[in-house]
Amino acid sequence: MRIGIYPGTFDPITNGHIDIINRSVLLFDKVIVAVTTNPSKSPLFSIDERIEMVLSSTRSLSNVEVDSFDDLLVNYALHKNAIAIIRGLRATSDFEFEFQMALVNRKLSNELVTVFLMPNEKYTYLNSTIVKEVASFNADVSCFVPEAANKKLLEKFSAKKTKHL
Ligand code: ADP
Repeated sequence: MRIGIYPGTFDPITNGHIDIINRSVLLFDKVIVAVTTNPSKSPLFSIDERIEMVLSSTRSLSNVEVDSFDDLLVNYALHKNAIAIIRGLRATSDFEFEFQMALVNRKLSNELVTVFLMPNEKYTYLNSTIVKEVASFNADVSCFVPEAANKKLLEKFSAKKTKHL
């Protein structure tokens, strides 16, 4: 079975991530969306919330599994018997970091390849940070994120607002 790992913070999952997942499922028998528990990015959503949003948004895809990991990505991927790490490339701004990561990961394990997929152009400007920024002003982000993430963003920011009253 050809398994691909799609790792990320998914804080929250966006339509850009969904685009990459939809492309990945055509290439692999199984795609594991692996949500990192690494707190270095100080995520807005807890690991459980992020997993829940990914699960709800990928329910219709039978060969997608959702998991979390806190190990070194390469070790986690090998443990899962994956053959590839899947990453999205939006613009040249992603390139330098992704190139470095892919080469380091290749050095760590020759058994894994990194596969870069480009999303539809309409998602190339999208990332989780900008979505959170816009949502924090209670603006509508439903065109940027799946329904489950939109709901959670609304809950999170209305709760924050109430707290400040
Ligand atoms: P990370 O913390 O690894 O940057 P993200 O959840 O932000 O985690 O992203 C996970 C992967 O999805 C990365 O490869 C990133 O480049 C890709 N990605 C994020 N947003 C988009 C998008 N709009 N279109 C395509 N790929 C994307």
